[in-house]
Amino acid sequence: MGEQRQIQLHDSSSKRIKVIFDNQVFMLYIPVSIVDGDKHALIRLALIDWMKNKAAEEVKKMVDNYAQKYNLYPRFVRIKTQKSRWGSCGIHNDINLNWLLILAPEKVMEYVVIHELCHIKERNHSANFWNLVEKHCPDYKKHRLWLKQNGRSIMQGL
Ligand SMILES: [Zn+2]
Repeated sequence: MGEQRQIQLHDSSSKRIKVIFDNQVFMLYIPVSIVDGDKHALIRLALIDWMKNKAAEEVKKMVDNYAQKYNLYPRFVRIKTQKSRWGSCGIHNDINLNWLLILAPEKVMEYVVIHELCHIKERNHSANFWNLVEKHCPDYKKHRLWLKQNGRSIMQGL
């Protein structure tokens, strides 16, 4: 969510890597049975897994909140891995959101959620669409700019 966090590694006797985020620190419990050569890749996968779950949780909270507030209800919301887009809204109002948004500031993630919800009403990027986005997210231009300037480096993390 746009902030750098410390990662602490601990030895563990369990079989799988466990990730706990507490007090703004990531604590990773690494099984001693994992050989050194595999450690880096497995830690990366464990963190990606954690971030995907966290993104799904945060997106769900935002969608529940905004759908009700703006009366824009998606059929369902999916979290995806996408290398070129942050979100999409299909003709049946199925919304896809990229889990990498978890690396962006919370307000930017919120903007993308609102953007896709607004497509339920306006299925294009017309002036009406942007007016609707602005109504629900007055600072949207700032968040779009952030994505333009930082989005590529976030997606490169894949
Ligand atoms: Zn759009």
